[in-house]
Amino acid sequence: MSDSIKLAIHGGDPVRKTYLPYGKQWIDDEDIHSVIQTLQSDYLTTGPTIDQFEKRLADYVGAKYAVSFANGTAALHAASFVAGIEKGYEVITTPMTFAASANSILYNGGKPVFADIDPKTYNISPESVQSLINEKTKAIIPVDFTGQPCDYDQIIRCAEEYGLTIIEDAAHAFGAKYQEKRVGSISDMTIFSFHPVKHMTTGEGGVVTTNEQEFYKQLIQFRTHGITRESSKLLENHGPWYYEMQFLGYNYRMTDIQAALGLSQINKIDYFIERRKKYVNMYNEAFQLLREVETPSQLPGYDSSWHLYVIRLNLNQLTVDRKVIFEALQKENIGVNVHYIPVHYQPFYRGLGYEKGICPNAEQLYEKIITLPLFPAMSEQDVLDVIKAVQKVIKYYAK
Ligand SMILES: *Cc1c(COP(=O)(O)O)cnc(C)c1O
Repeated sequence: MSDSIKLAIHGGDPVRKTYLPYGKQWIDDEDIHSVIQTLQSDYLTTGPTIDQFEKRLADYVGAKYAVSFANGTAALHAASFVAGIEKGYEVITTPMTFAASANSILYNGGKPVFADIDPKTYNISPESVQSLINEKTKAIIPVDFTGQPCDYDQIIRCAEEYGLTIIEDAAHAFGAKYQEKRVGSISDMTIFSFHPVKHMTTGEGGVVTTNEQEFYKQLIQFRTHGITRESSKLLENHGPWYYEMQFLGYNYRMTDIQAALGLSQINKIDYFIERRKKYVNMYNEAFQLLREVETPSQLPGYDSSWHLYVIRLNLNQLTVDRKVIFEALQKENIGVNVHYIPVHYQPFYRGLGYEKGICPNAEQLYEKIITLPLFPAMSEQDVLDVIKAVQKVIKYYAK
C-alpha cells in the first residue's frame, strides 16, 4: 500500500469536495408550475387534482384503483386495517426493511412475525414465510427490497393455500416489474411512498393500489375518519347532510398541492428509472473488478426499479469491518447509508420480546452492507466520484 493513498484518506484531499447525499429529489420548472397552478385553483385539498393523480397512478401500475395518502406509512396503516389485521392475528414480514412495514401491523394490534431473507436477493424467503404460517396468520407484508420484486409466484401460492392477504410494501419498487407485470398490479394491495428519496416525490405522500373494490371503498373511508356518505352503506339516513362514522379512521389525506407535484413527477418516471439503471450499470461494471465487494444480484424475470444500490463487503478479503469502510467513505464526502438495521434489533421491538438471532441471514447481511448514492439528479461525474472513492478505500483496506 503506497503512502500517497494512506495520506489521501487520513488528511489528504477527499475524492469529492462537496457532500453527495445517498438520495434526493429531482424538481424542475414543470413541477413548480404544476404546484403553482393548484395553489391558484379553488381546491388545496379534496379537489380534482387528487382524482387525476390517483387515476394516473392506477393506470401506470395497471391496477383498478389507487387511493392516495399523506405518506407511505399512513398507506401501510390503512392497508393493514382493511386487510382485517387486529389483535390476535399474526402477520409475516421481513426484518430487512424500514420500521414502518412492521409498525403498520402493531398500529392495528397485530403481531409482526419476522421471516428470514434469501441471502442472494435479500428479499423475504418464501420458505421461511411458509414455515411461520399457523392458524393465527392473517397476512404477509413482503418488501421489494431496493426495488427488486419478491418471489411472488411462491408467495401468492402460499397466500392462496392459507387464505392470507398480501400487502406488498413497494416503497422501493415504483416502476419495477415482475415477469412483465408492473408492481402495483400483482398483490391484493400494494403501497408506494413519495418521500423525496423515493422514485418520485410529492414531498410527503403515499398510495395504495388494488384491484379489489371492497378494499378500495374501505381505504377511502379509513383516510377520512372512517366516515362515509355512500347511501348504500348508511345504517340510517336523516337527509342530505347526513354521514356516518362507522369505524375509527384517521385524517390521512394527501393535499391537491402534493398531487399536483405528483402529476408532473409521474410524467418523468420512466426517465428517472432509466437514469437509475444507467448508474447501476456503471457501478456494477466498476465493482465487478473488486473481489472485496459484491454487487447486488438481479434474477431473470425480475426488473428492479433500483431505489437503492447496496454493496455487500467480502469481509474476509478486508483488514477492517464495515464501520471503518463506512467512515472512510464519509470522509471522501460520499453520502453512504445502511439499509437496514434489522427491525427486530430496534429497542422498541426488543422491548416487545424480539431477540437477536431469529433471522440469521438478515443479521449476517446487516454486518456487511453499505448503500451508495443513487438518484436521477446525480451526474455521471457524481457516479464516477463514488466509484473512485470506493476503489480508493477498498484498495487501502484490502488484505
Ligand atoms: C419509505 C418507506 C416507507 C414509508 O414511507 P413514508 O412515505 O416515508 O411514510 C415504508 N416502507 C419502506 C420499505 C420504505 O422505504
